Amino acid sequence: MASHIVGYPRMGPKRELKFALESFWDGKSSAEDLEKVSADLRASIWKQMSDAGIKYIPSNTFAYYDQVLDTTALLGAVPPRYNWTGGEIGFSTYFSMARGNASVPAMEMTKWFDTNYHFIVPELGPDVTFSYASHKAVNEYNEAKALGIDTVPVLVGPVSYLLLSKPAKGVEKTFNLLSLLDKILPIYKEVIGELKAAGASWIQFDEPTLVLDLEAHQLEAFTKAYAELESSLSGVNVLVETYFADVPAPAYKTLTSLSGISGFGFDLIRGSKTLDLIKGSFPSGKYLFAGVVDGRNIWANDLAASLTTLQSLEGIVGKDKLVVSTSTSLLHTAVDLVNETKLDKEIKSWLAFAAQKVVEVNALAKALTGAKDEEFFAANAAAQASRKSSPRVNNEAVQKAAAALKGSEHRRATNVSARLDAQQKKLNLPILPTTTIGSFPQTIELRRVRREYKAKKISEEEYTKAIKEEINKVVKLQEELDIDVLVHGEPERNDMVEYFGEQLSGFAFTANGWVQSYGSRCVKPPIIYGDVSRPNPMTVFWSTAAQSMTKRPMKGMLTGPVTILNWSFVRNDQPRFETCYQIALAIKDEVEDLEKAGITVIQIDEAALREGLPLRKAEHAFYLDWAVHSFRITNVGVEDTTQIHTHMCYSNFNDIIHSIIDMDADVITIENSRSDEKLLSVFREGVKYGAGIGPGVYDIHSPRIPSTEEIADRINKMLAVLETNILWVNPDCGLKTRKYGEVKPALEAMVSAAKLLRKEL
Ligand code: GLN
Ligand code: ZN
Repeated sequence: MASHIVGYPRMGPKRELKFALESFWDGKSSAEDLEKVSADLRASIWKQMSDAGIKYIPSNTFAYYDQVLDTTALLGAVPPRYNWTGGEIGFSTYFSMARGNASVPAMEMTKWFDTNYHFIVPELGPDVTFSYASHKAVNEYNEAKALGIDTVPVLVGPVSYLLLSKPAKGVEKTFNLLSLLDKILPIYKEVIGELKAAGASWIQFDEPTLVLDLEAHQLEAFTKAYAELESSLSGVNVLVETYFADVPAPAYKTLTSLSGISGFGFDLIRGSKTLDLIKGSFPSGKYLFAGVVDGRNIWANDLAASLTTLQSLEGIVGKDKLVVSTSTSLLHTAVDLVNETKLDKEIKSWLAFAAQKVVEVNALAKALTGAKDEEFFAANAAAQASRKSSPRVNNEAVQKAAAALKGSEHRRATNVSARLDAQQKKLNLPILPTTTIGSFPQTIELRRVRREYKAKKISEEEYTKAIKEEINKVVKLQEELDIDVLVHGEPERNDMVEYFGEQLSGFAFTANGWVQSYGSRCVKPPIIYGDVSRPNPMTVFWSTAAQSMTKRPMKGMLTGPVTILNWSFVRNDQPRFETCYQIALAIKDEVEDLEKAGITVIQIDEAALREGLPLRKAEHAFYLDWAVHSFRITNVGVEDTTQIHTHMCYSNFNDIIHSIIDMDADVITIENSRSDEKLLSVFREGVKYGAGIGPGVYDIHSPRIPSTEEIADRINKMLAVLETNILWVNPDCGLKTRKYGEVKPALEAMVSAAKLLRKEL
């Protein structure tokens, strides 16, 4: 019985690749230094898998930046603006595409399916000429072989590559990307030929787009592509790997009918429906790579349950054709639990990061051959049992309260326009009221204060004093700027999710649980392991302190339940919505405490609401329903005169605008300026919006300082489609990453634009 790993994290257990990349980009180390760190990481990963006993070990899953960009390099599909002159693509062209250079911006980046990984989107048009321009796949194969390890080279499959591309500038509306299939397949044939010559006995093609809602002509492209590759693939075994969801029935049929393929890989964690399809029919004589170990979470596998699943599959595909695998590449989980020295033993026993998952895969494969490691399985079963029954996981009161929410309706009693009237009587704001999204610049000094307090190097009093001084500075600045609704600037927060997670029960934090987000950037999601509750108020102290410094309304600032959920590792022993409802109840307590403490405007950020949207359309409605419900639960208990704001990043909202309206917030601030006012087009098309709305008037992602005229112009465009009395004036997002030298003049311009237009209205 064999074992297989779909892919492995590249960053290294202590983010070695991140530091090597950043040092190289800063000119502090050489290309050779970067290559050396990378080769060492690859070698240690291969060795680790080989020592664990994995049979099918992946290669070419390492990337200096991104595996889709690697494929663009492989195909020589460099957009002309990077002035690549042919030959093997080196660091300079590669990183220019990834990050831009002094004269050319980077290529677009977008989310990899529903993960938090981002890939570089290929730009392809009718004029692109392909050539075999990166030999990375074969080089990595040879590199492993020289270490005595035979690997399975992994390539992004040709059809997924094209389906994930975007048409080049100028042909956006007209170009059919799949028409390029005939042009890229010859390059694929060249790579396959080289890999075969180097001695590869298996090649893995990742075709994750097979889990999406595909049309018949897109499915036909798979049939066509693999038929075309069939003759070059003779003499080598081919695995077509899918992941992230179940494979819909038509795609399953197409996939399992492809010619020249030896095995198929499925995500059996998120794809339980695929299990039924396999049980219905599976081509005889083919290998099934059964992804039973979760590549996207940090939980230890329930080995006994997986073994049962695998045994049932054995009966269908045959003992010698079943391969135990991960559900996805392990890229989406943390690297190695060994480095978590601060997590307590009990919680640690419930977890498995990439390195531990490799061991689990192998243990399952061995168990199937009859060589079950009884001790390992017993320890696993004990950990599963302790997790199920632990009082740290279970809080009956929370479970009951959350269960009572299901299927019920929570909505503020008064409609939004009446509420806005009541609020206006109390707040007395001018038309086009100005505000900001929450954070103000985080200086080095501020970060130092937080770090020293955490390390207990400064006392609570010293810390409180420093933070209060910072808040006071931010309040005074906003008063000077004459902003109408103030914020306290969030100086006490390191991260908008971590800050709340640290104060809620049911959350744990890792020291090194980093996951690659894009390029060298990693995130360290909190782990939600138990029922969530709020032992104490979380923000009331700082918000009331800030309110006491000004007569103007001070926004209470919270992160919403959906965003906390979507930016965490979520427990897998109950549905996501249940965890979300629990967080919603905790935030609800906080909202009500803020109100009691005299805070009249409360912002509940849902920056990541859209991010949680499932891959397939049929599942959107269910997600949006519980996500929006969770948001409403947080503020259903407040007075009409308490104004609830929410904020969202990214302007890609047109398809979910009705859900946004259904959140029933009094005011929403939305990122807008990077998207050519795409957001406004929905209102132009007649969507009625009665609540307050503040589409961002300038881009905070750039250091550029906008002028008054430019902002006034933007506001005028908004006024053309939105009622004057509902429009707010604010930047796109928080100002945390900017410098005061940029923030002051930009906000000055923003306020003067609002004042200019008030006079004209
Ligand atoms: N209130 C947060 C801030 O201003 C919102 C951040 C976000 O939307 N990502 O920093
Ligand atoms: Zn934002």
